[in-house]
Amino acid sequence: MSQNKLLLIILDGVPYANWRRLFGNLEGWVEAGEARVWRMRSVLPSTSASCYASIHTGLLPQVHRIWDNADIRRLEFPDIFSEATKAGLKTGAVTHSYWSEFFNRAPFDVVRDIEYDEPGGPITHGRFHTMKGYGHDNQMTPADYDLFGTLTRLAEVKGIDYGILHTCTLDSMGHRFYHDCEAMDHACFAMDATLAPFVDRWRRAGYEVIVTADHGQDARGHHGGTGPDQRDFAFYYFGPAEGPAPEVVLDQLALAPTILGRLGVPVPATMTAAPFLR
Ligand SMILES: [Zn+2]
Repeated sequence: MSQNKLLLIILDGVPYANWRRLFGNLEGWVEAGEARVWRMRSVLPSTSASCYASIHTGLLPQVHRIWDNADIRRLEFPDIFSEATKAGLKTGAVTHSYWSEFFNRAPFDVVRDIEYDEPGGPITHGRFHTMKGYGHDNQMTPADYDLFGTLTRLAEVKGIDYGILHTCTLDSMGHRFYHDCEAMDHACFAMDATLAPFVDRWRRAGYEVIVTADHGQDARGHHGGTGPDQRDFAFYYFGPAEGPAPEVVLDQLALAPTILGRLGVPVPATMTAAPFLR
C-alpha cells in the first residue's frame, strides 16, 4: 500500500456537461495527459448532505440515514477523517459547516467551531463557513479564491496529509440561474481559472489532487432525484495511480475507500465498494 498526500476538491452541484464544456484548464490537463477524467454517479437521494455523508463514509444514505439537508448530526460511522487520524495522518477541512457536524461534533457552534486546530482529530485543522442567511437571491458563499488560499495554508503551513475543500458557489448559481445562460458559463469559467493555479501549486507540493462534485443538477437547477443530469458529474484525478477504462462510470461509494487506499490507510469493514485507483 502506497502512502501519498491527497487533496479532494468538491465543487458542489456541477453537472457532468458543465465540467466537460466549460472547465478549460481541467480539460487542458486531461488533453495534455496530466490528468484523467471519468463520469461519477451520486447516491440517491442526490441531495447535498446525503452525498457529503456518502462521500466520506462510503455508505448509502439508506444506511447512514441522512435523508436531506435537515437533521444534521454527528455520524456514528468510520470515515476518511477518523481512519486517517487513527493512522497518524494530519487532516484538514475547508468546507461548509455540515462537514464539521457530520465528522467531528454537532451542533455547530460558530465561535467554537468556525476554525480549530485539534491534534487528536478527527479533523486536525478545520476552517468552516455556514452560509447562514442563504437564499435564492443571496448566495452567502465565500470567495472561492479565499477558500483555495486557506486550503493551501493548511497544506504548506500545517503540513496536512489529507485535505478536503468544498464550496457551494456553483450549486447556488445553478439553483438561481439554471444552466443554459451566460451567468453559468461565466461562473464555471471563473471557477476553473481561479482553481487552476492552486492545482498547479498543490501538484508541485507533492499532492495528488481530485476535483469533482457531490451531484449534478438538471436544466431547472434541481437535484435530489434520479437521472444523469441530477446525479452525474466529472471526476478529475491528478496522480500516478492506475484507474479503470475511461468509459467506466464511477460509484460515489467507492470514493472513500479509494482515498484511504491512496493515503496508505487501512479501509474499515463498513466501506465495501472496491477502490478504483491503484
Ligand atoms: Zn450539493
